[in-house]
Amino acid sequence: MSAPQKISIFGATGSIGQSTLDLVGATPDAFKVIALTAQKNVTKLADAAIQTGAQYAVIADSSQYETLNNLLVGTKTTVLCGKEGLLEVAQIEVDTVISAVVGLAGLEMTYAAIPYCRKLALANKESIVAAGEQILALATEHSTKIVPVDSEHSAIFQVFEEQNRAQLNKLILTASGGPFRCLASAEFANITVEKALKHPNWDMGAKITIDCATLANKGLELIEAALLFNVPEHQIDVIVHPESIIHSLVAYQDGSTLAQLGMPDMRTAISYALGWPYRHKTLVKPLNLIEMGKLTFEAPDLTRFPALRLARQALKNCQGQRIIFNTANEIAVENFLNHRLSFIEIPKIIEMMLEKTTPPKLNCVADVIDFDRYLRHHTQQIIQQFQF
Ligand code: NAD
Ligand code: MG
Repeated sequence: MSAPQKISIFGATGSIGQSTLDLVGATPDAFKVIALTAQKNVTKLADAAIQTGAQYAVIADSSQYETLNNLLVGTKTTVLCGKEGLLEVAQIEVDTVISAVVGLAGLEMTYAAIPYCRKLALANKESIVAAGEQILALATEHSTKIVPVDSEHSAIFQVFEEQNRAQLNKLILTASGGPFRCLASAEFANITVEKALKHPNWDMGAKITIDCATLANKGLELIEAALLFNVPEHQIDVIVHPESIIHSLVAYQDGSTLAQLGMPDMRTAISYALGWPYRHKTLVKPLNLIEMGKLTFEAPDLTRFPALRLARQALKNCQGQRIIFNTANEIAVENFLNHRLSFIEIPKIIEMMLEKTTPPKLNCVADVIDFDRYLRHHTQQIIQQFQF
């Protein structure tokens, strides 16, 4: 039997983190958990550390350190906290890091981990959107393989033929269309947080669920695909496919279009990233196309969902604009979830920030983090001042 794969999970208490832990728990002999991290949910983090026998548990919110320490008394898990703790475990050698923090908060630790892992299973799309150039360059330098966890990018990764790159016609990203796909534009002003948090097909964290409802998620994924696969914006299409069975497609110039299909269950993409280059058995329900009956497709509506148009514009433009798109969206979504902004104001805030901000020169990840900090502050100010 081969040695267990050493893994660290950043964002272990979230939706992706917990699904990863389910998969690890199903074949415990295949994995040795080195580090688990979370923002503030100490109970969930301690449970996961106890179940997996993790060597380290790190809580980003330092005020929770004592509580976590008490919960893990008598175990062999070392408890750390704060940014220092996160960066310390990022620099422990492992086979695989699962980067599943939500938002640009995940960038620093993901970037720090690249030289110390052989494979980066990447769910944290915001980091690639904002600092794709730097992440990919560092991964190349250290021969770290990036395997996407996002279902669309996992699909493309599985059918992308590097040897036929010159014959590539299009990447085609599929989108479920979210809960408001059929809602008349006049009704958009009445969208509540509760309604936006109900995704028809996927069960995910709050931020990405709102991103799916505005289609900002598909915008982030468009950018993520362009960077991960080094394909220009004009060669990436987005189509709405409400059943979420085809996870994405790659079209070649000979007329062949290759797709990856499966039930809308993130455990398939996570398992693929964990196992790559091998596939493991999961408890995901097998696809039954006869039961499905039919699969449908339509064009995205950029009038009701302007965030997708704004993401494409940012991608055509520059790295700085991509960071603005991402950060303005993060802050707008946070305000929407706290009932301080309406649903239709989310893309308006992004558009205003894109129009009014001139990005600085960005040479490294530290520059990206500085610019993000500046944008967080200014987006919040605009939200407080602006009367729509
Ligand atoms: P989530 O909100 O459920 O979990 C986020 C995790 O990040 C939690 O463990 C939380 O403790 C941690 N975290 C949050 N802020 C942090 C901070 N400042 N410092 C350290 N840790 C912090 O999110 P999720 O739905 O699991 O999504 C995680 C990432 O995966 C996102 O980038 C999302 O876009 C991507 N993704 C998620 C899904 C999905 O099905 N949930 C699918 C595709 C991609
Ligand atoms: Mg996705």
